[in-house]
Amino acid sequence: MKAIVSHDIDHLTLSEHYFQDLIVPKFFVRSKIELLTGKISLAEFFYRIGDVFKNQWQHIEELHVFNQKHDVPTTYFIGVNKGVGLSYSTAQSAFWIKKMIEMGCDVGAHGIEFETFEKINKEYSLFKDLSQQNTFGTRMHYIRTNDHTFTNMAKAGYLFDSSEMAFKAPFKIDTMWEFPFQIMDSYIIEKPKQWQSKNFFQSCEETKKIIDKAVDLNLPYLGIDFHDRYFSHSHKTWKDWYMWLIEYLAENKVEFVNFKMAVKALESK
Ligand SMILES: [Zn+2]
Repeated sequence: MKAIVSHDIDHLTLSEHYFQDLIVPKFFVRSKIELLTGKISLAEFFYRIGDVFKNQWQHIEELHVFNQKHDVPTTYFIGVNKGVGLSYSTAQSAFWIKKMIEMGCDVGAHGIEFETFEKINKEYSLFKDLSQQNTFGTRMHYIRTNDHTFTNMAKAGYLFDSSEMAFKAPFKIDTMWEFPFQIMDSYIIEKPKQWQSKNFFQSCEETKKIIDKAVDLNLPYLGIDFHDRYFSHSHKTWKDWYMWLIEYLAENKVEFVNFKMAVKALESK
């Protein structure tokens, strides 16, 4: 089994939210609950307040340095449309797409449009223009899909998608590869609540169970979704959990590839 790690970029700054949505006040309500229930420390809470002054919620570069050090080729999914709490501008997105490509990252679209072919195709074309890439993949923000989303993505021209959460091997939908994934940070650390409900140890134990299940089912690829936003002192459990996960897989001799490398391997079979 090989592992495919990817990162969804849901936020860049805090100020992008100020006149658009209630993400920031809601986040501090959550943080207070986490502090009072002992899930985060006072230091962590103060780091979160510090982020307001730094106006930074993305941790793309720090995460990239860590991944490189551990030989983990990843894919970053970044939005080019606003919606469901994703509120950065196309200009901010264009800046980061260019920067990430220069950093040597694989970059795909974090999709907002899932309902009709016209909207999906328009989003695909916008991402293509901004990134100047001919082949790229996608993951839907909040993994929103309907019965036609996948066939419409394939028709638009996406090389791959990873919006299905399931214990399944990659499969082809027309010309597009679908990579179901099994591990998502928020599902592990927050569920069943809307805020952090597990500590580091509990999160690791939960994750080991998922990995064991993937091994038992003989899955060729283990899909992992970690949001760059949480690679920070402000989210200690999340960051520690991600670093533990990469090291745990490496210790167990699991090789890391990105989606494009996996597509190449699947196509050559
Ligand atoms: Zn997202």
